[in-house]
Amino acid sequence: MKAKRAAIALLALAGLFAAASAEERLDLSALGDIEEAAPIEDGAAQEAGEWTYPIAYELLKTSDYIALVNRDHLLGEEDIPDDLVDLTCRKISYDPIQMRAVAADALSELFDAASEDGVTLYAHSGYRSYRTQKTMYYNRLDSNNGVDDGVVQYPGASDHQTGLGIDVINKAGIGKRFTNAFADTKEGKWLAEHCWDHGFILRYQQDKEALTGITYESWHLRYVGVQVAQYMEKRHLCLEEFTEEWTAAAAAYEGAAQ
Ligand SMILES: [Zn+2]
Repeated sequence: MKAKRAAIALLALAGLFAAASAEERLDLSALGDIEEAAPIEDGAAQEAGEWTYPIAYELLKTSDYIALVNRDHLLGEEDIPDDLVDLTCRKISYDPIQMRAVAADALSELFDAASEDGVTLYAHSGYRSYRTQKTMYYNRLDSNNGVDDGVVQYPGASDHQTGLGIDVINKAGIGKRFTNAFADTKEGKWLAEHCWDHGFILRYQQDKEALTGITYESWHLRYVGVQVAQYMEKRHLCLEEFTEEWTAAAAAYEGAAQ
């Protein structure tokens, strides 16, 4: 019993370290080789007393950036991030755009890396309040004969309310409707290849529509942290799948620890 407590304390310490480094650029050597890691098919893969999932237990349990928000996991009107900052990266206009501080920094890094490759990106819209989302949703219903076509997220279901979601476009897209023609542009291709290394995922991918319930959006990024984003890219998981996977592993681990 004592040994188990000591092990848990050690794990907590390791997790704290992992969580702290996730705030900065991640030391990927701590991650190990993702492709070599044993796949977690279900909770049964979790051995008693040993955390075998490729991402630290404490990081997953304490991360403030991996929360799943969708139609089944709604935020409330009172859910407002307390660390919103104005973006300093390139934007479509002078109007302020806000994101949570860590995501705003990561986005600036992403845009700088793009510039180095000769790619110019523009931030379009970031944090959106519950009320704004609600207005957008009902406006969409009004213009679509009362039918929810999955284009605008239900109030409380939007990544934009987390302060971690951002729409990114190119110069040609400014002032126009979003379309997935963006995916075939130089900027869209660059984003799809590199966003992961800066902690962002493509939140609504084409072949995950049935799982996300949202039509493909090649312009919508969601910050989850570098380690998680890179893992999700390698395993080609959407946030719904990732959440199911790691929470099942955690439940098996916690069950085994009792
Ligand atoms: Zn969006």
